Amino acid sequence: RVYFDNNATTPLDERVLEAMLPFLKNGHGNASSVHQAGRRARQAIDLARQQVAALVNVQPSQVIFTSGGTEANNTILKGLATQFESATVAISPLEHPSILQPATALAARNWDVYRLPADSHGQTQVPEKWPDQTRLVSVMLANNETGVLQNVSEIALSARQQGILIHTDATQAAGKIVVDFSRLGVHFMTLSAHKFHGPQGVGALIINKSQELTPLLQGGGQEKGMRAGTENVAAIVGFGSACDYARQELSARQSHWHVLRQKLETALAQQDRVQTIGINSPRLLNTILITIKGLRGETSVMELDRRGVALSSGSACHSEYSEPSHVLLAMGIADEQADTAIRISFGQQNTVEEVQYFLAAFTELLDNLPPLLINN
Ligand code: PMP
Repeated sequence: RVYFDNNATTPLDERVLEAMLPFLKNGHGNASSVHQAGRRARQAIDLARQQVAALVNVQPSQVIFTSGGTEANNTILKGLATQFESATVAISPLEHPSILQPATALAARNWDVYRLPADSHGQTQVPEKWPDQTRLVSVMLANNETGVLQNVSEIALSARQQGILIHTDATQAAGKIVVDFSRLGVHFMTLSAHKFHGPQGVGALIINKSQELTPLLQGGGQEKGMRAGTENVAAIVGFGSACDYARQELSARQSHWHVLRQKLETALAQQDRVQTIGINSPRLLNTILITIKGLRGETSVMELDRRGVALSSGSACHSEYSEPSHVLLAMGIADEQADTAIRISFGQQNTVEEVQYFLAAFTELLDNLPPLLINN
């Protein structure tokens, strides 16, 4: 079987699993305990914190471990809201639901939510004028559906000039492009381990040290009081290890994806019905979003699954509802076209042979489309 749904989640790297196993098998130490087992857990977390920090070029003290990208995103929006009475939060319309939904919750509590403009190439624009009272802006670094890279440093510069705090959700960017927190000029950043071969259910919020933020979870004071709860030591160790490999192997992974993408896109360009979204924008090398004239995305996903290829229509998080993707709609793509989108996303494990296998299955699917489907 071919797995081309790596933006939804990646397989755990065997080497990362090896690093985690000791903490799953006999790692019953609580990192807050002073005895030897506790100290061992604490040391493992400290090392992981350094490994995560190194991936995004920050100090280990700036890393707060969370249960993943969703929690980090919620912490940012909800943790800042309680710092101010009411104000405006600006977001890109292309954000993941874990930003969009908390923003909607803020809107119900006296906050105004301002949606930045996005263009037809899938990029968020710097607004001509920031709404008065804007306190925070959140713009993702790479979009999970299109793979299009956002102009975060440009938006950050403009926001900072107005005294606005800036957060970037780097969940899909980390491990795929160079991510440098201070060069981006942001105050906060979200990371998630399972998008680059780490375990699911662990991530981090990176903070600019001087920034006040109210924690989402309060309790035993872990993570310097920013995120209470006994640490998931094995997951944190796996996250650190995945960051370490991603940092060391980034350029090799990029060259590999470049080869796969080239092969795929050259073949897709021959298909009249297929259009690649965001083709004129800088994009993640592992992500290709296409629309297929006359074939609903959901149908493609099921048909390809039958032929042994796993991928998703639009974004996996949406696929339980069959609505066209909000990302494509925000780019000005019509409902009928957005409805036909499928996303191919590579991981480090994918091969040229798998691309060939996919192309054969896909071509066969297109060639055998019943006329009704072709013409509707
Ligand atoms: N942000 C983006 C851009 C994502 O793609 C995802 C995962 N679909 C998340 C946040 C949520 O991360 P997690 O699965 O770790 O909660």
